[in-house]
This record gives sequence, C-alpha cells and structure tokens, in this order.
Amino acid sequence: MDDILKPEVGIFRVIFLNVGQGDATLMIVPDNETHKFLLIDSNVDDDNGVNVADLLKSGVCENELIFINTHPHKDHLKGIDDIHKAVKIKEIWHSGHLPHRDNREDYDKMKKIISDIGEQCEFFIKGSNELNKVHVNLDEGSGITRKIGDVDFQVFAPAQHVSDDIQDEEPEQRRNRIHEQSGVIKFTYKNKSILITGDSDKKAWIEYITPYYRDVLGAEVLSASHHGSRSFFKDSEEDKEPFEDHIDEISPEYLIISAPEKSPHDHPHADAIDIYKRFIPEDKIFNLGKNNQSLIVDIDLSGNLNTSWECVESSNLDGASEEGSGEDNFGEEFKEYKELKELAVKERLFPGNLIIGDFSHRQKLEEEVRGIVDNSNYRHPVKLKASLYWGREWDKEMNRRFLRSFVSGEKLPVYSWLKFEVLENFSCNYKVYWQVVNTGDHARSLGGLRGNIFSGSMVQWERSLYRGVHWIQCYIVDVDLNSCIGKSELFFVAFNPAGE
Ligand SMILES: [Zn+2]
Repeated sequence: MDDILKPEVGIFRVIFLNVGQGDATLMIVPDNETHKFLLIDSNVDDDNGVNVADLLKSGVCENELIFINTHPHKDHLKGIDDIHKAVKIKEIWHSGHLPHRDNREDYDKMKKIISDIGEQCEFFIKGSNELNKVHVNLDEGSGITRKIGDVDFQVFAPAQHVSDDIQDEEPEQRRNRIHEQSGVIKFTYKNKSILITGDSDKKAWIEYITPYYRDVLGAEVLSASHHGSRSFFKDSEEDKEPFEDHIDEISPEYLIISAPEKSPHDHPHADAIDIYKRFIPEDKIFNLGKNNQSLIVDIDLSGNLNTSWECVESSNLDGASEEGSGEDNFGEEFKEYKELKELAVKERLFPGNLIIGDFSHRQKLEEEVRGIVDNSNYRHPVKLKASLYWGREWDKEMNRRFLRSFVSGEKLPVYSWLKFEVLENFSCNYKVYWQVVNTGDHARSLGGLRGNIFSGSMVQWERSLYRGVHWIQCYIVDVDLNSCIGKSELFFVAFNPAGE
C-alpha cells in the first residue's frame, strides 16, 4: 500500500533508481504541504532495472516534472521521450553541452521536447557562488533565481567559462571534454546535503570546482561520479597522482553507485573503490546494480537521514501499464481483499479484536458514475488529511471543536466528528466523489452498512458510530473526460464503543 512516490508531508525523498548502465535520480521535494518532482538524468532501458517512465506514470501529475540533464550522454538521457509521453515534462535544465554526433539522437529528442514545451521552459545549469541560480540563456549575467520547494540547491559545475570554452571547440574536442562540462549540483534540506556529480571528471574537480567551492562541498550523501569510474580521481589507470582533495572535502557518510551488476565498462572501477573506501565505511557504500534494487534516502523535518532499499520494478507497480480487463479487475479485487485481511490482523493497525468485516456491499465507481473511464493509472495523487473534532450530532461546523489530527488505522472515540480533506488541487474541471464503507455486525444490525459512492466537496464530515473497522476513500473525476484521474488510498478508522 505504501507508495514510494508519496512520502509524508515534509519529507525530502531521493530515490537513486537502479537503471542499469546509466543514471536516474528522482527527487521528491517538499513544498509546504505538498511535493514537487525532479528527475536528474534518465536511462530508460527495458532490460535493466526500473522503467522510469512507467514509474513516473504511476504517481506524478502531468506537467509537474522538472528534468535536469547533467550532460547529454545517452546513458543520462535515454528514454526522455518516453518520460515526456508519460507525464509531460514542465521544465528542462541542462549543461548546454552540444554533443558529438554519437550522442545526438537522445539530445535531439530533448531539444524537440524543449521546442514543444517552449523555450521559456529551458534553463542552463552553470556554476555560481549564489544559491539557487540557473540561467535563461548561455550568456553571462543572465542568471535568475529558481527555487525548488523547500530545498536549496547550488550549482558547482559546469562553470560559465568552461561552457564558453568548450562551446568553441571542434566536435572531436567537445566529445573529449564533455565530462568537464557535466552538471554538479548540491541539494540541501534541514542541514543535510546530497551531492549529484553526473560524470564530472578529475580535470573538472581539480581546475573548476574544488578551488572555488572548497568550503561548501560537504555532503552526507554522495552520488558517485561516472558510475564509480576512476575518472573522478585519475586521468587514466596509470595515473600515479590521483586527486583526492575533493572527496576529503565532501567527506560523505554514504556513497551511491549507479552501475549494473555486469558493467561493460567495468564500473565501478576497483581502484576507485579502493580510494572511496579510505573515506567511507564499506557498509555505507551502496551499489544499485549489485543489489539489483533502488535506494531511497529520506530526510525528515528534523534533519534525520534514513536509507532503505526498495525493489522498484515496473512489474511491481499496481497495473501501471496494464489495461483493466475483466480478469484483471478480479485480480485487483482479490489482491485488495488479501491486503485488507493482512491489515486486519495487524494489531498495530487495529487494536484489540477489531477486524474488517464483510465489504461485499460496497459500490463500484462505475455503478455511480455512468460510463466513467476508470483510469487505473490514477495519475494524480490524492492525499487525505484527517482531523478529529468534538461536537454533538446537531452541532454546526463552526461549533465543533478541533481535538487533533489522526492517521489511517487509528482507533478513535465514538460519537465524534471526523473531518476528511483533500490536500491537492486539480487543474481540470473535476468533481469529487466519496465512498464510506462500513463493515461489521454492529453497523449491520443498526442498518448502517454504507458502501455507496456519492458526490461531495473537498471536505467530508463523518460521525464515528459503529464498532469495527471502516474506511473512507475519495475519487477525483475529470468531468470533461468522464475519467477517474485519481483516488486516495483507503483511509481506515476503527471504533470500539464498548471500550473492549
Ligand atoms: Zn554516464
């Protein structure tokens, strides 16, 4: 039930996606009560790990995604057209590097998207000493300040003069110098930082980055440059003077390497790992391909940093790319029933002997809204906020007294008011539907077995009455398309009037 694309309010979540020989990092950035989505690089490759386009389709709203390309190599750009098809990219930030013809295909796709969404949505990442600065064109002095939600970021590379210099080179030279012009960006939230390094190489760090940003390089989490290649430290394998000043200054607690288990380039390089190990404990060095999983890093409001592995596979997403045939629906139903049963036995969720009763009386959305297209992708996340109020049955809203907020599965006092609110905004012409499903003998005996779907507003008030476990769910319907574009998860409440 836990959707990795929907962290709690206030959490900065970074998912280092396992995408084979390439890079893709999804940042879910807190923005007040909601989140913004930022994808750094992409490598959509069906043979390897997560299909980023499918993943995004399952939980990112259209026109919500900012895409950042550190440099236009194909293992950092592959599938950008699929991603745009899936969620419609809002803005593209990139290094401004014009690639050699070997890497033109995906680059041209990116330029095509830019021309689709408008050049006002194109930004250039260029080093600056100020926070949150990207540029509206390649000229010096065109900087404008951008903010991403509640997270600060600082661009260390490419520097303006490096971009200018490489821009004037012959194609062959440009090809050789692309990693000098790779984006390097640090993101900071609640005093914890994540450093994204693209494929930046020794020359970039020695000449353009470290001398200028030495004091601000520090980061708890380092995404290993160039898939763990030695090029971060050395010019070649024979290089007898590896550069280590930068890793010393960054002083990371965690290192994340994006390389497949069997890398055609032998990433990560053993000699690079040897150097990393001198600065980072071995058990804090995470290799996505070796583990065949993606790594989630969460930073909470108090600045606590947590890591967890997640098996993010396209096939694990609830029917993300499947059409809902009759058989699939049955499968869904069964799965949901199984999940509910599992939930029911969790003491933590439903205290005492409260269990979910029969819920076969619940209505289906298509029974209430004629001809509705049940878009099983549910592109728009719908989150419910729930609050408990004291008040008598006849008390008007203004006379009810706020007690506290509560979460799904909590046991609540009876004869109280429960307020459920939808937190998101939707840009289309939409209608809100609610469903309250009461289960159990107590509700049945008192004729309170509700399960119908009814239209309502962004706020729904309910009374706590019947012993047992019940749930509420909200559906958002695009009226013009007659399509369900989002639904909340089942929000459970548990009451026990007898005090058992
Ligand atoms: Zn690369």
